[in-house]
Parts: sequence; structure tokens; C-alpha cells
Amino acid sequence: MKERTLSIIKPDGVSRNLIGEVIRRIEGQDLKITAMKMILLSKEQAKGFYAVHKGKPFYESVTNFMSSGPCVVMTLEGEDAIKKYRKLMGATNYKDAEEGTIRREFATDIEKNIVHGSDSKETADFEIGYFFNNLEMMDR
Ligand code: ATP
Ligand code: MG
Repeated sequence: MKERTLSIIKPDGVSRNLIGEVIRRIEGQDLKITAMKMILLSKEQAKGFYAVHKGKPFYESVTNFMSSGPCVVMTLEGEDAIKKYRKLMGATNYKDAEEGTIRREFATDIEKNIVHGSDSKETADFEIGYFFNNLEMMDR
């Protein structure tokens, strides 16, 4: 089924010049980038984005990290885009991530793991709406 997902190249990915590397991998999986921008999240905006994690021990730290430098946010579209992109990213903890995945190859830390990807249709809808409006989507 054709679907959309939200991808973020996190501040560690941007500062380590991994934007091109991540995009090359996305395009190599036949996923279409249908919206893209670079943004610097405020702490409040990062908290809103990761609101599902409110109360967890890593919430403060991950929202500081996500607002520490620019991110690249993109919407991806394709067959099984959500699962396909999660597979490309690898497990949250790079130590558990499969060989060849983005996190396994580039993450340095459970928090500083280079990329974000939506984990379900519902989260994808929320997350895409958090960053993009209809006029910014190129899939119409
Ligand atoms: P993301 O939502 O960023 O795609 P994920 O779905 O693989 O990652 P989540 O459980 O949603 O993982 O956690 C969100 C983010 O919070 C992680 O990507 C990571 O940056 C950070 N994080 C998660 N668990 C921990 C932890 N135990 N310690 C520190 N940071 C964590
Ligand atoms: Mg998540």
C-alpha cells in the first residue's frame, strides 16, 4: 500500500555532513521525497514533537538534543514507506541495529542516532502535519 512517512535527519546527522548519505539511501529504496526543509527546532517545538515520550527518563535530554542544531525534515512516499524506512534506519539503539542500516553505520549513542522515522500510520499523519502544510507537499 502506498503511504507517507516523516523522516528527520537529526542534528548529529546534519553536523556530521550525513544529509547526502541519508538521502542517497532513501532514494535507493525507491522512496520519493515529497517535501523537504531545514529547520532549527525550539525546545518547546521539540517537546511537542516528542510529546508521546513525556515523562520518560530520556525526554528532557532528547528534546535538548533535537533543539541543539538544525534538522532536515522530509516526507517520504512509496509502497510500505513506514516499514521500509524504519528498516533502513535500524533499531533505536545502534548496538542492536542490523548490519548495513543507517543507525548501525553512523549512530554514536542511543540518543544521537542520526535519523527519525514515523512508527505507524497515525504517528505519520501527526508528524507530517506538525511540520508541513498542504501547499508544501509535492505529491498532489
Ligand atoms: P525516533 O522516534 O527518533 O524515530 P525510535 O522510534 O527508534 O526513534 P523512540 O522510542 O521513539 O525510538 O525514541 C525517540 C528517540 O529518543 C530515539 O530515537 C532516541 O534519540 C531517544 N531515546 C530513546 N530511548 C532512549 C534512551 N533509553 N536513552 C536515551 N535516548 C533515548
Ligand atoms: Mg519513535
